[in-house]
Amino acid sequence: MAIRDTFSSLFKRTAKTDDGAAYAAERPCLCSPAWPGLETTANGFTLPAEPSSHYSVLTNPDIGPFVARCTGCQARYPDPWVIPQGAPMPFEWAQD
Ligand SMILES: [Zn+2]
Repeated sequence: MAIRDTFSSLFKRTAKTDDGAAYAAERPCLCSPAWPGLETTANGFTLPAEPSSHYSVLTNPDIGPFVARCTGCQARYPDPWVIPQGAPMPFEWAQD
């Protein structure tokens, strides 16, 4: 199975909200200062995200479906980012 298929089946609904709207807006951040915080979503859970010099395997848009957005205005973060070490796993079985 291709890695893209694997991630697509593991992480549904990451780029869309439950009602089908885009999770992040395709426009610049409107906050001042810009990008006060980043967040992402997986399997219905909200996870922290942070800017990085490079994408991780999970957050690379060429491979996975993850999208990071501004916590203030929901703009899509256009640069590389990662899910920080220690973030909770986005699975029901990992929440206990
Ligand atoms: Zn913003």
